[in-house]
Amino acid sequence: MTTEPGRATDPRPTLAVWKFASCDGCQLTLLDCEDELLGLTDRVRIEHFLEMTPAEGAGGERARLDGRGPYDLSLVEGSITTAEDAERIQHVRRISRYLVTIGACATAGGIQALRNFSDVDEFIAAVYARPEYISTLETSTPISAHVPVDLELRGCPIDRRQLLEVITAYLAGRRPRVPGHSVCFECKRRGTTCITVAHGIPCLGPVTHAGCGAICPAFGRGCYGCFGPMSRPNLRSMVAQLRHDGMSEQDIQRVFRTFNAASPEHAPVPDLAAEKQERPPATTETHPERPA
Ligand code: SF4
Ligand code: SF4
Repeated sequence: MTTEPGRATDPRPTLAVWKFASCDGCQLTLLDCEDELLGLTDRVRIEHFLEMTPAEGAGGERARLDGRGPYDLSLVEGSITTAEDAERIQHVRRISRYLVTIGACATAGGIQALRNFSDVDEFIAAVYARPEYISTLETSTPISAHVPVDLELRGCPIDRRQLLEVITAYLAGRRPRVPGHSVCFECKRRGTTCITVAHGIPCLGPVTHAGCGAICPAFGRGCYGCFGPMSRPNLRSMVAQLRHDGMSEQDIQRVFRTFNAASPEHAPVPDLAAEKQERPPATTETHPERPA
């Protein structure tokens, strides 16, 4: 147990925020909760969050990468791309009562998981002037590939409303309400006309996890899946529809290999995209949430 001053007499549960390989965008979502943040700190003690810690020598506590804990809730951003981080996540798990991963990097390896399909040494040689100083793993993997995870929150970046729901639910001792339905559901709720049905625009909405409020279709653009797979994606129908809407086998593979390249749910896509299409799908067969 920690002996930090004030902690023993403070009844509030403790929160820690951790960063692995990532752009910090999901951590910024928490800082972005401007109206709610003060209310939140009445109920939870934020003990480890380097992104909001003053720089060393600026009058704040010295930031520590290891964090001593224990913590009631840990939010983890980023994927595992180095041997050091593979060790550090074990430490984070040991000192966390609940561990929630936030964002596409932490839940699916992120954009950096594109390396999983290529030779990482080629990338290093192309990007760095002195590649001999770079020490990295061949793959970028989600946190769940290394330690047990209590909840995965999707998005690139995550949605602030879903984040607040997760934090307040854990504080209240209940299961968070983050439904696994698709972006299509959100389009219907906001009254957006389906851009695939009306205009033939390819859209990953039927297989993508809700949370963004269906922003892209509302502006006439197809969803490209930044929130990752919904709970039970019907990939066979989705791939057939994308082909019907004009995408080539290569296009289909590429649209799934963006933010959530290493999602296990997306693993069948290359084989499905390579299959010969027997007949064009009827539109009603392409919507996984619509009764047959
Ligand atoms: S999921 Fe997206 S926004 Fe979040 S850390 Fe990764 S790249 Fe940044
Ligand atoms: S790409 Fe899809 S999931 Fe991402 S913001 Fe656009 S509609 Fe939402």
